[in-house]
Amino acid sequence: MTMINGYSSADGERLSEKERSLIERRERLLGPAYRLFYERPLHTVRGDGVWLYDEQGRRYLDAYNNVASIGHCHPRVVQAIAEQAAVLNTHTRYLQEGILDYAEDLLSTFPAELGQVMFTCTGSEANDLALRIARHHTGGTGVIITRFAYHGVTGDISALSPSLGSGITLPAHARTVRAPDAYRLGAENVGRLFAEDIRAAIADLRAKGIKPAALLLDGIFASDGVFAEPAGFLAEAVALARAEGLLYIADEVQCGFARTGAHMWGFQRHGVLPDLVTLGKPMGNGQPIAGVVARPEVLASFGRSVRYFNTFGGNPVSCAAGQAVLNVIREEKLQQRSAEIGDYLLQGFRRLAERHPLIGDVRGAGLFLGVELVSDRESKAPAAAQTRQVVNAMRERGVLISAAGPLENILKIRPLLAFEREHADLLIDTLDAALTEVVG
Ligand code: PMP
Repeated sequence: MTMINGYSSADGERLSEKERSLIERRERLLGPAYRLFYERPLHTVRGDGVWLYDEQGRRYLDAYNNVASIGHCHPRVVQAIAEQAAVLNTHTRYLQEGILDYAEDLLSTFPAELGQVMFTCTGSEANDLALRIARHHTGGTGVIITRFAYHGVTGDISALSPSLGSGITLPAHARTVRAPDAYRLGAENVGRLFAEDIRAAIADLRAKGIKPAALLLDGIFASDGVFAEPAGFLAEAVALARAEGLLYIADEVQCGFARTGAHMWGFQRHGVLPDLVTLGKPMGNGQPIAGVVARPEVLASFGRSVRYFNTFGGNPVSCAAGQAVLNVIREEKLQQRSAEIGDYLLQGFRRLAERHPLIGDVRGAGLFLGVELVSDRESKAPAAAQTRQVVNAMRERGVLISAAGPLENILKIRPLLAFEREHADLLIDTLDAALTEVVG
């Protein structure tokens, strides 16, 4: 079978001339590190609410993008960006009220102990900064992450993102622990086992003469395979790490801004209080804004001895977008909707599991859901090939999702917070049809 730019000839034959040419230009101009979604890549030209549109005007239900979380091209965000861009767009070295109003509003959504925020442009930068702060505060260097974590693309942070690929070599100061997989470890054991693994990782770092600085965790363990249940399972691990002198960095890039439904922030589901919280993706609904929320006592010595300036981070246009996102989440009651539609989807997927033996587990919180596909429910053998087929069959049927986990056998489903019941029904029905098609 011949390959065109990584696509088999079978896929290639289904591509239009335009799509072929875009793929070829992409590869020629952007080089080999980029990856496209789907066997037949999607050429998007427009977004509106929960829909993306391709060049032929066909619409796709977006159950995946958690950047344009409150809806593609949300008019309130578009208006806020346009208005601010027409008046002033400088940076954080001048006095300006927008950044302070936004900082105040954002911090009001956190527990009082988390009282300060520093702005960046990306989640990667936020994690990088949080790690620098944690190292400065503790005087240590060691970091504990999960085995298939993703935290971003800077030098330090990509080294702590094993899910980036086999080219990542874990640095000597890092230790990985098993993902808190309640499906395989058992819901009753997962919290204890996770804490035990972290205790062992701390001991191992110390045995090698490395002082641990931070426990860095994605609150929904997205790349590890989406692990949200049982709520509270993180408490033991976080208490242990903090008692051992590590700072707990809650990476909320995936699970923040009402994504998990009942709470604004993923860590709140676990009843824990982080030292540092990193934010990104949905924060500006596509406008690059991210940040680190911190306990002031953790920031104090870092801030005194290291000057911070991020040219674009927290600029007036980005803050205007961030403010519009917070306003829309409140006014359109998107947190409640995330909880409600999320539960509705969980129930719908569980009903599908009664008819589709390929579904081994249905899990998640709010509008961050995982459906694990297995070829045998007894052995829980991952059904990776079928998962890929389901993702592609859904795309062909006009619904966008993806896959997660080391073997990519978990359907990763992150509907836009703007989903209504009718969209949830379409998602469930399409998954039903895709599973039927794949099993044959
Ligand atoms: N942390 C997590 C958990 C993420 O999923 C991501 C992005 N996928 C990042 C950090 C990095 O964010 P960014 O791409 O904005 O640098």
